Amino acid sequence: MSRTLPVVTMALLLAGGVVAVRAQTQPDLVLTNGKIITVDERFTIAQAVAIKGDRIVAVGTNQDVGRLAGPATRRIDLKGRAVTPGLIDNHMHLLRAGTTWQYEVRLDGVGTRRQALDMLRARAATVKPGDWIYTLGGWAIEQFADDSKPFTREELDRAAPNNPVLLQASYREAFLNSRAIQLLGVDEAAAQNAAIVKDGAGKPTGRVLEAGFRQLVAKLPTASGAELEASTRLMLRDLNRMGLTAFGSAGCEAEVMPTFRKLADQGQLTVRVGCITSPPGGGNVDQLLPRIAQMKLFQGDNYIDNIFYGESVYGPLHDPMFIAKSDPKPEQLATWRRIATEIAKARLPLHVHANLTDTLDGFLDQIELINREYPIRNLRWTLAHVNQLNASHLERMKKLGLYAAVHPWAVINGGINQAVFGDAAYDMAQLRTIQNSGIMWGFGSDGTRANQIQPFTTLWWAVTGKMVGGARALRESNTIAREDALIAYTRRNAFFVFQEDNLGSIAPGKLADLVVLDRDYLTVPADQIKDIKPVTTIVGGRVVYDAGAEPVALAASAGK
Ligand SMILES: [Zn+2]
Repeated sequence: MSRTLPVVTMALLLAGGVVAVRAQTQPDLVLTNGKIITVDERFTIAQAVAIKGDRIVAVGTNQDVGRLAGPATRRIDLKGRAVTPGLIDNHMHLLRAGTTWQYEVRLDGVGTRRQALDMLRARAATVKPGDWIYTLGGWAIEQFADDSKPFTREELDRAAPNNPVLLQASYREAFLNSRAIQLLGVDEAAAQNAAIVKDGAGKPTGRVLEAGFRQLVAKLPTASGAELEASTRLMLRDLNRMGLTAFGSAGCEAEVMPTFRKLADQGQLTVRVGCITSPPGGGNVDQLLPRIAQMKLFQGDNYIDNIFYGESVYGPLHDPMFIAKSDPKPEQLATWRRIATEIAKARLPLHVHANLTDTLDGFLDQIELINREYPIRNLRWTLAHVNQLNASHLERMKKLGLYAAVHPWAVINGGINQAVFGDAAYDMAQLRTIQNSGIMWGFGSDGTRANQIQPFTTLWWAVTGKMVGGARALRESNTIAREDALIAYTRRNAFFVFQEDNLGSIAPGKLADLVVLDRDYLTVPADQIKDIKPVTTIVGGRVVYDAGAEPVALAASAGK
């Protein structure tokens, strides 16, 4: 393919006579000698890309694209490296994560206990004695291939003797060291709280189960004010390092939004944010309905915008992660329908948390009823998470014109899923059935707590069926081709952030969001997909991450 913008072609043809025009139209940046995985409709592979301002102006052969360059054009020789569109996560709790990032030792994709403890020790060596070190999800103890026994307080004491440590594993359990136990008053609470695990002598072991850790986490320090901006910048750098360039952000918290707006205004926001949001005070349905009618989406730009109503319609019908079966009651579903009808009347897109079989059926029953009066096709109503989505749901969804936002919790929670759901866990999610159904679907993480967020870890899971650490989490027959997995993280996800004209493939006219990889996603052995590292990440034509410019390759965010 050798498409160029007409004005550039004309400048070339007229050569010397139009120097000024040519100077204006020559690209700012040209990348040549690469394997450009465009992910366009025909999955074209090209050699070179030209960028002018924040957009791609040409994609093609080295010769065709190279000759557009002028004296002021910056050139990058890709030396054969693969390039993909910037990766899009269609559902992450992005803004909230900035409030904790500076304290977190992220264990996303860490497959051994040994490495996790090394990271903890390294962090303890860089922070002040007494400073909190914690991490809120994004990993599970079952992901450690070398030893997946619960962390003990003594073990965490040895790793960080002078700092309180709390490690929340997914939404399942948390592990504390002695300083954290002391600071959070766990000893005092232990006798009356069954969620605090105790040894034979009645002393807390450091492990706290789901029912007990949320109140402890609520006491942890978080970043606000100037600290919030610094913490958010650390996070953005880490996200760009993973190859992520755009998000559907579940919940754009009012207290964090100003930080993102400020960064955007200063031209320093290095990811694009599409908010999945709902009016405040959703508890009272009568108060909520008029607010829905007044909601206005799509008032922003291609860096920050409000794009979906979500992710909850009616609180009591919000599936928890680790229960085997949901039981939506008729009166609850009727209330859900009342709210969703108002969303349909207002012609708002909807992105709704729905995971378990009976919940999916219950919501589909309601949407079919709503659709008779207020057609929802083309509103991009999306069922999100959908780990138990099956062929019968897909049939109904296709008739309604619904989308599926697939958030594979199994990437870290495969072991927990097997404990909760038995063998059915190996069919969560039925990726191949979803892919073959022809429905519009895309990938998200639902991170940073319920799941890990590294896109190449999710892509590896989709292709191999293995969870972090290497244990099987998905039946082989549910896995999909790596091309289809990549399309779901790029071109299809552009629809989930309402930017299909701007994002998702490398094509002339689209925004220049792309990622140069250290190895070829299409040919690397499947088991190495998780090890792929971005070398350079470009957002809107700007290099926002360059591995060569980093002082040290970091496994996770640096200390405060
Ligand atoms: Zn959710």
